[in-house]
Amino acid sequence: MTTQPAMVIIGAGQCGVRTAAALRNNGWDGEITLLGNEGAAPYDRPPLSKAVLLGERSTEQCAFHDDAFYRDQRIDLRVDACVQHIDRGARKVVLSDGRSIEYQRLLIATGAEPRRLDVPGANLQGVHLLRTASDANALAEALQPSRRIVIVGAGFIGLEVAASARARGCQVVVIEAGARALMRAVPEVVAGYLIDKHRQMGVQIHFAAQIERLLGSAHVTGVKLKDGTQIGCDCVVVGIGVKPRTELAEAAGIDVADGIAVDDTLRTNDPHIFAAGDVCSFPHRLFRRRMRLECWKNAEDHARIVARNMLERGETYSEVPWFWSNQYDMTIQIAGMPAFGVESVVRKTGDTSRIFFALDRDGVLVGASGVGKLSEIARDVRVAQTLIGQRACIDRALLEDPDVKLKGLVAVEAL
Ligand SMILES: Cc1cc2nc3c(=O)[nH]c(=O)nc-3n(C[C@H](O)[C@H](O)[C@H](O)COP(=O)(O)OP(=O)(O)OC[C@H]3O[C@@H](n4cnc5c(N)ncnc54)[C@H](O)[C@@H]3O)c2cc1C
Repeated sequence: MTTQPAMVIIGAGQCGVRTAAALRNNGWDGEITLLGNEGAAPYDRPPLSKAVLLGERSTEQCAFHDDAFYRDQRIDLRVDACVQHIDRGARKVVLSDGRSIEYQRLLIATGAEPRRLDVPGANLQGVHLLRTASDANALAEALQPSRRIVIVGAGFIGLEVAASARARGCQVVVIEAGARALMRAVPEVVAGYLIDKHRQMGVQIHFAAQIERLLGSAHVTGVKLKDGTQIGCDCVVVGIGVKPRTELAEAAGIDVADGIAVDDTLRTNDPHIFAAGDVCSFPHRLFRRRMRLECWKNAEDHARIVARNMLERGETYSEVPWFWSNQYDMTIQIAGMPAFGVESVVRKTGDTSRIFFALDRDGVLVGASGVGKLSEIARDVRVAQTLIGQRACIDRALLEDPDVKLKGLVAVEAL
């Protein structure tokens, strides 16, 4: 069956649904087809590792919209429509059931896939990944009080699960292959600050630890490290990063470079096809390099811009990245790219709240990581986001001094 040419979106996730809504808001009156393969309407993923694991919210409550929204906005949402192939010549996508849908413009927003452990035992029962609502429901069920949980990977997902598991009364061990936590995300000083909190909360953490195998016959019972250490457990959570879902694009001959390669308008090398969200890598004007982001705000920002560019507005993307995480009673907010810094300057904004500014080798502010109480970090991180966008060079003493209002530096110090 073939339908009229439409705006077609592959991936009914955050970026997909936001783009569909933005197409309507920007005046597109024709068809919008949103193709998903999760069997459920688009939902918000950040609560999966936090409120859902804590039992404070159901996965159904994470849905972005109810059915009426899709009806009112005339968005043809299909939740069991797995796209198998993009036929660029005929400008159509082919679904796994053989049906095809023609497009005028196509957006690939297929997100990212959690990496799996590649060791013997990785497929045992009780080994969890966390990306989808059903992953979260299965893990929430496993996090019963006193259970022994091993988390592989001290990235944001691993640390959020650790915090949720401790709150549920589990015993938690984190195993990280690298020398420290959050290697790609934040400077060492920030990671150290977070890890101190996890240790205070009773989480055991092993760094530079290589897993040899997972133990157990049907269900996982433990983890064996390459140095011979064995850690008994009832459940393993693998949080070792994600890889962009680029297979459809690659098979269609679309350029890929750590994600589907788009230009600064989020268009691929095929003028009718765009990519956005976790799946794409894009040139960032501010940081003068190609990057791929895996975060909520990026999916929101990309959706807003890509919808306009699917309507040929030709806008370029240059938002300053922003990310947040919640662990225990701490909020973490990150603006810019702290990992690109070579020097850290710390501002104490409360008894346990800190802002870690990251400066590059020219002294330009490239990142700010706030850790602590929301009310003690949010304002400074927000202002830092503006300063980062202005490539500001700021005296270290001013950054350090909590009595100096960052806002006052915005106009004067911008380059
Ligand atoms: C547990 C968890 C916690 C997170 N917490 C935070 C946080 O605290 N802060 C933050 O900033 N970010 C967080 N994130 C990241 C944020 O949720 C993602 O960056 C965001 O969801 C990316 O949106 P996306 O639309 O690009 O991809 P996704 O939301 O992954 O959506 C892609 C969709 O495409 C579908 N799809 C793939 N292939 C096909 C196909 N062939 N046919 C049809 N459909 C297909 C997928 O099934 C999926 O539904 C978290 C993510 C997870 C998993």
